[in-house]
Amino acid sequence: MTVTQSPSDLADFSTSLQSVVDTVVAPAARRVDAEAAFPRENIDALAQAGALGILSAAEVGGSARGLRAAAAVIERLGSACGSTAMVVLMHYAAVPVIEAHGPRDVREAIGSGRHLTTLAFSEVGSRSHFWAPMSTAKEVDGHVRLDAQKSWVTSAGQSDSYVWSSRPLTGDAGMTLWLVPARTAGLSQTGSFDGLGLRGNGSTPMAASDLHVSQSAMLGQDGAGLDVALTLVLPNFLVLNAAFSLGLMEATATETAAHLTGTRLAHLDQTLAQQQTVRLDFARLRGQVDQTRAFLEDTLNALESGRPDAMLRVLEVKAAASEAALQVTDLAMKLCGGAAFRKELGIERRFRDARAARVMAPTTDALLDFVGRATLGLPLLEDVVAR
Ligand SMILES: Cc1cc2nc3c(=O)[nH]c(=O)nc-3n(C[C@H](O)[C@H](O)[C@H](O)COP(=O)(O)OP(=O)(O)OC[C@H]3O[C@@H](n4cnc5c(N)ncnc54)[C@H](O)[C@@H]3O)c2cc1C
Repeated sequence: MTVTQSPSDLADFSTSLQSVVDTVVAPAARRVDAEAAFPRENIDALAQAGALGILSAAEVGGSARGLRAAAAVIERLGSACGSTAMVVLMHYAAVPVIEAHGPRDVREAIGSGRHLTTLAFSEVGSRSHFWAPMSTAKEVDGHVRLDAQKSWVTSAGQSDSYVWSSRPLTGDAGMTLWLVPARTAGLSQTGSFDGLGLRGNGSTPMAASDLHVSQSAMLGQDGAGLDVALTLVLPNFLVLNAAFSLGLMEATATETAAHLTGTRLAHLDQTLAQQQTVRLDFARLRGQVDQTRAFLEDTLNALESGRPDAMLRVLEVKAAASEAALQVTDLAMKLCGGAAFRKELGIERRFRDARAARVMAPTTDALLDFVGRATLGLPLLEDVVAR
C-alpha cells in the first residue's frame, strides 16, 4: 500500500535524491563504465538518501512511496548512470516479493537501506524463459537443498540476498521462490561480467551447489512462484525498465541538443541545428522520447486507477520503451557524428547501455508474443510453460 506523503516530505526526498545523482552518481558514470566497476559508492549514497526503502512499508522503516515514485528514481538514475539504475531497478523488482512473503528482519533491513537485493531468475538451461526454471529444490534432513546454474544475476556478489527461482519441492513442473542470503555456503559466482553496456551492473552467472536453506526461506507457497512473479515482480520490472529507457533517452536528447546547438560549421557561420535534415532527425528523436513518457504515464495511471487495460499497458510499456531507446540512441549517434563515436559526449555509452533492455527477460520478442496472445484471446503462458 502506498502511504500518502506530505508535499514537504516528497520535496525533501526529491532534493536529496537529486543531490546524490548530481554529486555522486553522474560524476562516476564514465569511470563505472570504463572500469566495469560495481557502483558501490553510488548505492551507499542512495541508501543514505532513503532510495532503497521506498517500496517498503512504514512499519518496517520504509517510506512506501509506491511504483510511480520508484519510476521517477529509476528515470533520474537512468539519465545519469545506466549501471546504477539497473542495480536499483533489480532491487525494486525483488522487494515486493520480500515485503509480501519475507521475514521481518530482512524487511526492516531493506526499509532502512541496509540491505540490497536482486532477482536470480534466468538460468543457463531455460535462458530467457524465466517461467521455466530447471534448477532444483529438494528436501534433505529437514532442510532444503538448492542446485542451480543461474546465467545472469545483477549485483551478483554485491547483494545481501537473492530472490531465487527453482522447480517446486513437490512435482516437476512450475516454480517456487526462495530468499537466499548472500553468504550461504554453496553459493558462488561462476564468471565475471565484461559486457557491451551496463558494464558496472555486476551481472555475473551464479551457481548453487548443495546450497542449504531452511523451509522458511520459501517466498509464497511451493509451486506458486510463477503467480508470485507475475503479480509482484513483473509489473514493477516492466514499468521500471520503461522508466530506465526513458531516463536514458532524455539524457541522450539533452546531450544531442547541446551538441547540435553548440557546434558550428564555420564556413557557413551556422550551427548544426540550423541544418534542416538535422532538425528532422532531432524532431523524430524528441517525438520518441515524448511518446515514451506519455505511454509510461498512461501505464501508471491505468495501474493506479485499476483500469481494465492496465495489464495490457504493463506488457506493452517495456517493449515500446526499449525499442524507442534503441532508435533514439541510434539517431543520436548519427546526429552527433564523429563526436558521438568518441567517448567525450557520453552518447556512445548510452547507445551501448540501451541495448540491454531488449534482451532482458521478458525480452521484447516475448512481450510482443504476450501482447499478441492477450489481444487475440489466447492464454498468456499455458502452452509455453508446458513445452
Ligand atoms: C545487463 C543484464 C542484466 C541482467 N540481470 C538479470 C538479473 O538480475 N536477474 C535475472 O534473472 N536475469 C538477468 N538478466 C538476464 C535476462 O533477463 C535474460 O534472461 C537474458 O538477457 C536473456 O539472454 P539469453 O541469451 O539467455 O536469451 P535467449 O533465451 O537465448 O534468447 C535470445 C533471443 O531469442 C529470443 N527468443 C527466445 N525464445 C524465444 C521464443 N520462444 N520465441 C521468440 N523469441 C525467442 C529472445 O527474445 C532473444 O531475443 C540480465 C541480462 C542483462 C543483459
